[in-house]
Amino acid sequence: MAAYNKEFMKEAIRIALDNVKNGTGGPFGAIVVRDGKIIATSGNTVVPDNDPTAHAEVNAIRKACKQLDSFQLKGCDIYSSCEPCPMCLGAIYWARPDHLYYASTKEDAADGGFDDSFIYKEIALDGPDRFIPFINKREEGSGEEFRLWKENENKTVY
Ligand SMILES: [Zn+2]
Repeated sequence: MAAYNKEFMKEAIRIALDNVKNGTGGPFGAIVVRDGKIIATSGNTVVPDNDPTAHAEVNAIRKACKQLDSFQLKGCDIYSSCEPCPMCLGAIYWARPDHLYYASTKEDAADGGFDDSFIYKEIALDGPDRFIPFINKREEGSGEEFRLWKENENKTVY
């Protein structure tokens, strides 16, 4: 199991700083490491890519998975310049790396104008009570996809 290496964290922070200095995105950087080697790096590219999901962690996970030709990051560690937002937390759980190391905290991010505590609070609410209402509308055929999935013997489970 790979141990924490501060040089990798410094690299994630450097990417975040460069992003701000170069005007290439928000103040966030992330890298994916395996066996002591950097597999992928990325800054936040929400604005230049017009992609609200292009957070540094999601970008780095996508690049690393392509690089490794895998839909999981088993055996990898992710270094993020900042504590992940709820979206990235979810992405990290799906990617299943061994560790997530972060430098700045979500309180630091909130102080910088990136307040994801709002989203963390929303998760606890019932769908219809959320700021963006999540409304359940079950229609005919709903749930059939899972029955088919369970029966399918050729699927790749993830
Ligand atoms: Zn995020």
